[in-house]
Amino acid sequence: MKIDTAAVIKRMQIRNGNPRMEKMALELIDIALGVARPKAIYRISQAKVIDRGTVDIDGIQFTSRALSKCLKDQPTVYPLLATAGQELDELPTVKGDLMRQFTLDTIKMVILFSASEYLTNYIKEKHSLNGAAALNPGEFDDFPLSQQKPLFALFGGAEKQIGVALTSGGALKPTKSRSGILFPNETGFMSCKLCTMLKCPGRRAAYNPEVFKEYIGTP
Ligand code: SF4
Repeated sequence: MKIDTAAVIKRMQIRNGNPRMEKMALELIDIALGVARPKAIYRISQAKVIDRGTVDIDGIQFTSRALSKCLKDQPTVYPLLATAGQELDELPTVKGDLMRQFTLDTIKMVILFSASEYLTNYIKEKHSLNGAAALNPGEFDDFPLSQQKPLFALFGGAEKQIGVALTSGGALKPTKSRSGILFPNETGFMSCKLCTMLKCPGRRAAYNPEVFKEYIGTP
């Protein structure tokens, strides 16, 4: 496994060189390389749009206007789960050392992004998709965290193979995990265009009110 050191340093915003922080980042990356085991699973599912806000995927109902719009004429979709793994969460913590905690968190985030990207590319290649996009429960009100429940129901317990669990509040455990529904898309659609979460570290495109109107309706 590789960890993108430059991405960790960039996300930590170590500007103009901060030897102490950079040294800590490199040391923790080294430790992470020894223990981190990112994992992912996906399934091939059949989707049917029921109406403007409801979609049936393998007999399980999802409620989202954006999902309904995205899956129109897309009978095959790829529900997925990816995680940075629980191994890094098990590293001993140093009480009060917030900088170490922040650095480890950043490393886990970079590992999760890499695992997600790897899985997306794998699915695209394996199923000959020219383009793909994904919607992830919890990104915006139209596709809220409560939609994790039907998503996990699709996996029917297979998520245990990668050590991911859903809490009663709809959050993922380990926290550096991701769930979503990937679908073929060649239009350049990205869920970030519908999302107003300004401080998201994973943003890939700017919020676009026109796209929001088209996919969800008037805000
Ligand atoms: S900005 Fe993009 S990556 Fe971040 S939560 Fe919103 S949709 Fe997801």
